[in-house]
Amino acid sequence: MDKIKNKILKLKNQINQANHQYYILDNPIISDTQYDLLLRELQEYEKTYPKYLTSDSPTQRVGSTPLKKFSTTTHRIPLLSLDNAMNTGEIRDFYARIKKGLPEESFELIAEPKIDGLAVELVYENGIFVSGSTRGDGITGENITQNLRTIRSIPLKLRDDKIQIPSLLEVRGEVYINKKDFEKLNDRQLDAGKQIFANPRNAAAGSLRQLNSKITAKRPLKIFCYSLGTCTGVTFSTHLDFLKALPKWGFPVNPLIETCRTPEQMENYHNKLEAIRDDLDYDIDGVVYKVNSISQQKFLGLKSRTPRWAIAGKFKAQQEITQILEIEASIGRTGAVTPVAHLKPVSIGGVTVSNATLHNQDEIDRKDIHIGDWVIIQRAGDVIPQVVKAIPERRTGNEIAYKIPNRCPICNSQVIRDEKEAKHRCQNINCPAQIKGSIQHFASKNCMDIDGLGQKLVYQLVDEGLINNVADLYYLHKDTLLKLDRMGEKSAQNLIDSLNISKKTSLSRLISALGIPNIGRHLGKVLENHFESLDKLMEASFEQLNEIDGVGQIVAQSIKNFFSDEKNRLTVIKLLEAGITFKTSEISNDDKFLNGKTFVFTGTLTSITRNEAKEMVEKYGARTASSVSKKTNYVVIGENAGSKAEKARKLELNIMSEKEFIHMINSRKIYSLKV
Ligand SMILES: [Zn+2]
Repeated sequence: MDKIKNKILKLKNQINQANHQYYILDNPIISDTQYDLLLRELQEYEKTYPKYLTSDSPTQRVGSTPLKKFSTTTHRIPLLSLDNAMNTGEIRDFYARIKKGLPEESFELIAEPKIDGLAVELVYENGIFVSGSTRGDGITGENITQNLRTIRSIPLKLRDDKIQIPSLLEVRGEVYINKKDFEKLNDRQLDAGKQIFANPRNAAAGSLRQLNSKITAKRPLKIFCYSLGTCTGVTFSTHLDFLKALPKWGFPVNPLIETCRTPEQMENYHNKLEAIRDDLDYDIDGVVYKVNSISQQKFLGLKSRTPRWAIAGKFKAQQEITQILEIEASIGRTGAVTPVAHLKPVSIGGVTVSNATLHNQDEIDRKDIHIGDWVIIQRAGDVIPQVVKAIPERRTGNEIAYKIPNRCPICNSQVIRDEKEAKHRCQNINCPAQIKGSIQHFASKNCMDIDGLGQKLVYQLVDEGLINNVADLYYLHKDTLLKLDRMGEKSAQNLIDSLNISKKTSLSRLISALGIPNIGRHLGKVLENHFESLDKLMEASFEQLNEIDGVGQIVAQSIKNFFSDEKNRLTVIKLLEAGITFKTSEISNDDKFLNGKTFVFTGTLTSITRNEAKEMVEKYGARTASSVSKKTNYVVIGENAGSKAEKARKLELNIMSEKEFIHMINSRKIYSLKV
């Protein structure tokens, strides 16, 4: 029996270690297949020996029975709110108050980014996660234990990495969603005709407050931990010591934390973070300063509901109120209609905003937005500003409801809403708006990068009837260009030159430049790696496309549709005839990310041949062997794999599926070591 117990313990440790490497250290050590194999093995054991199933088991992260409502939890120590400093003057005042309030001359402040998410408290008894709750009103919160358990960066069992485990530990942190994950989540919501989230914080809050934790488990929630509640058995003399202890127990801590000793340093930190705010993966809405010494914190104590030893320096608002003057149906390069709100210009965080997207008709209806409405506008980073909500209290009665027109405002063709999606589309593939959009896309920096071919010139060329598709660009003559309004000798020559330069490109750039729906730069690369010629891609069957890692049914279908269109095929042929050539992407030594590694392939590969697989690993500096040994680094398992797979498992080697192998090659991301 002890043997079983030990085996289960070993599996749990392996899985927890893999999680820790992935989420805390950002250094994955095993493939997803291997992770799933371990998890499945553990599930099997727990099913056979249910008495060994514990609440801290990694198998418990998938969510459990939906709740009717959340119970409430009273926090042992209230989660206080912080005073806000709205400007540098108020930050200096805070510093002066601390200096005056402390008997000692010297003190330090720890500066941390203020994550824009949902504050939660996690409770551990003897190292095991037992419950978790929202901040609520600071005194009581909602018990969301089931949901928090699904977040893979929250340890279910504390690590004892050179640190003692407290008998009771309460850790506070902020649950958030990455900006990229948020966009993907909203895309999925839009595709499914569901309501989109206004911002990552709303998405995180909505996901955490799901009564069905199985839904929460599917949401890409993450956490940063930053503060301590009760802690029995371990004491800290500074806040920084506590922050350093957190990762040892297995909690993620934000990497941008700094120590400040003067008001100037505080301001510098504030300015630095505000400047990089848009570039971070997650939303922050300010900076928090805390007195570092715990004894000094205690000495300073509390005001009525806020600590005297901490303050939040707020950033400039990302939301403002303004009025919608007009709503315009904008036609994209795929014919999709996006309603755009033209606004009374307003400055948001230092940037003047005069347009905002309204996504689609469903969103307009849901938010009940009228022309003339006063609305809240939100801007964040490079994302197109969006309308968060209308303010119906400010209506005068002159507002007009908006419906997407049933005729294209550009070409007057029919606009139809596809039953399966939330989007309306102009049905005319020769619609000038679509042609202009597709040419602009083709010329853009991430695609063919044609210098000097901006929106104005594209419009001019299309409106004058000089070009009708992207291939026509390469057949333009200088003399023709010179006839255009305000086109001089020099700019005409420059355009001809940049068109010629753009002919030397890579296959991935051309693929993404074609504007096939759902294909961007990343998929362009995936397809380039897979096909290595445009002909092969054009002739690929739906099945062949669908099998490629990263290419789902939707993408496969849209590639298929694109190349079955005679017009598109002609355009591609014309492009190639114009002299477009592909550089094979050269592999530098730095790119040989598999240097010195040994691969063994076993079983039948389905999307590539053995030879292609061999070429792939050799291209990146690795070699293949025919038999599995201790020296083998990776074993790729195809269909009907036999004894070699078995042996690899016994030797505890890195095992991956064909899909994962291709993903590893495409992403150049290595699974460095085994557990
Ligand atoms: Zn049209």
